[in-house]
Amino acid sequence: MKKFVTEHQSPYLDLSAEVSEILYEGKSDFQDIIVADSKEFGRMLVLDGVFQTSDKDEFIYHECITHIPLFLHPNPKNVLIIGGGDGGAAREAVRHPEVEHVTMVDIDGKVIELSKQFFPAISKAMRENNPKLTVKVGDGIAFMREAKDFYDVIIVDCSDPVGPGEGLFTYEFYKDTFKALKEDGLFVQQTESPFMHSKLVREIKDCVSDIFPITRLYTAFIPLYPTGMHCFTMGSKKYDPLTWEPNRKRTFPTKYYNEGIQRSAFVLPNFVKDVLYGE
Ligand code: SAM
Repeated sequence: MKKFVTEHQSPYLDLSAEVSEILYEGKSDFQDIIVADSKEFGRMLVLDGVFQTSDKDEFIYHECITHIPLFLHPNPKNVLIIGGGDGGAAREAVRHPEVEHVTMVDIDGKVIELSKQFFPAISKAMRENNPKLTVKVGDGIAFMREAKDFYDVIIVDCSDPVGPGEGLFTYEFYKDTFKALKEDGLFVQQTESPFMHSKLVREIKDCVSDIFPITRLYTAFIPLYPTGMHCFTMGSKKYDPLTWEPNRKRTFPTKYYNEGIQRSAFVLPNFVKDVLYGE
């Protein structure tokens, strides 16, 4: 009998991945968790029925959510990651020599523990206790409320706006994020698919642009996520990705990111411009 894990991407569309083995299936205090070996994507993490990451395509998401904001900032010393319990964003952030300290706050210690056990490559920085990285288990919303004028770059590597991640998509949270950043700081958040979640993408852009002087959207092609077209919303106090010029040399290899992607990711198809700015 074939086995599958399935994400109900919309009421009308499912994505099912055939799996050879379910390695873990259980519940934390916050969500249902599955770790499975799939035939197409390799090992996958599924939270509350939503595909979070896979060994095969994780590099695209993690490089885009991390290197695009970090290379926009000329000197990112202090980085905060909200969510990101699999450790992929932290792994990429610590590779920047300019980055002195990364704080990661995920609400679910069980996701962190299982990622260390089942995703050794993704969780490398957490597993090896990288000296630049501090991992905290706690609510990112409460953490942000207390932070002030400290971070150069904030990465919101969250799950979808349901369950524990819901409050990470609110006006109050973006206000607190603005407050937590230094005067030239910037933040980025994964904001789903502009094709399938256009209403959400527009609402987030409207909120963020009410608070930040510069608001930009960028996209990446992520096979595991709904429609394969994923977007990230960026709010910045000073640096504009549309006028970016290389400000330092990249000292490590990447699989998706390059200097062309840093620019082209912000070039939007007309229908996405309509989502953001249309009537
Ligand atoms: N790449 C993924 C995606 O876009 O589907 C996100 C991956 S990461 C595993 C998402 C993490 O956000 C989860 O580990 C979850 O526990 C965490 N999370 C959800 N709500 C949170 C909150 N309020 N504070 C901190 N972390 C939260």
